[in-house]
Amino acid sequence: MFRKQRLQPQVRFGIDLGGTKTEIVALAPDGGELLRRRVVTPHDDYQATLSAVARLVVEAERDLRVTGSVGVGTPGSISRATGLLRGSNSVCLNGKPIRRDLERMLAREVRITNDANCFALSEAIDGAGRGARVVFGAILGTGVGAGIVVDGRVLDGPNAIAGEWGHNPLPWPKDGERPGAMCFCGRAGCIETWLAGPGLARDHGRVTGERISAEEIAARAARGDRASDASLARYEERLARALAHVINLLDPDTIVLGGGLSNIGRLYDSVPRLWGPWVFSDRVDTRLARNVHGDSSGVRGAAWLWGRAGS
Ligand SMILES: [Zn+2]
Repeated sequence: MFRKQRLQPQVRFGIDLGGTKTEIVALAPDGGELLRRRVVTPHDDYQATLSAVARLVVEAERDLRVTGSVGVGTPGSISRATGLLRGSNSVCLNGKPIRRDLERMLAREVRITNDANCFALSEAIDGAGRGARVVFGAILGTGVGAGIVVDGRVLDGPNAIAGEWGHNPLPWPKDGERPGAMCFCGRAGCIETWLAGPGLARDHGRVTGERISAEEIAARAARGDRASDASLARYEERLARALAHVINLLDPDTIVLGGGLSNIGRLYDSVPRLWGPWVFSDRVDTRLARNVHGDSSGVRGAAWLWGRAGS
């Protein structure tokens, strides 16, 4: 089998295994980047994908002359019951014992979690949620995902779905919001159908007849376009309701936003002004923060699956 590693490795390798590219980073204990490389992910070939990951680790260790811990972030989750990956958009990985196979190839324990958990962990350890005890990291991009980190560790429940808030319904729906658009998950009106980029674009199109992207809506709103400003205001109010649900349930110290929509600067002022009426408290001290690490949170969070120095 594989050798057990010390709990505090000197070098942590993080791998972001995506559908089109696979990236590796090597982090020093202080979070400094010792190395970063990227390769194209082999298309629809499980064995070739495993080999690509293993090669990145072996070559990085050879070049840095170290042995490190290995964490992997990838879409989907590993079933606790079967040990098999499920729900990945890289469908050749689904139903495969990817952790066990990587452990065999690399002769060590490997930790794997999904990309939303990596995002939350990266921001909690040395990003916008640094120093916070409970961090909710939400990705608002082409979809909506989220992860929860408590005391520097990913909260990983028996179903491996902690934080999957994007497939809860939009809370306190108004008359015009029911039943909502169909979601790929099979239900209608999921938070994702409103708060992902395509959801904002659809809502704007429904009201104005214009078919433009979420990015364009934000750009036009910033230039003073009234229709786009109104669409963004509806988006902010829905985000406030959706996050109020999170605050009522989890009461995180910090909520960090990632994904393309997190670049809309006005969210960080407007949403905390709007969420109060929906939160079951006379005041709300929760911080809403923009991510620090951006597109790097996948690899960095994967590396931090082996804990930060001193934790
Ligand atoms: Zn859904």
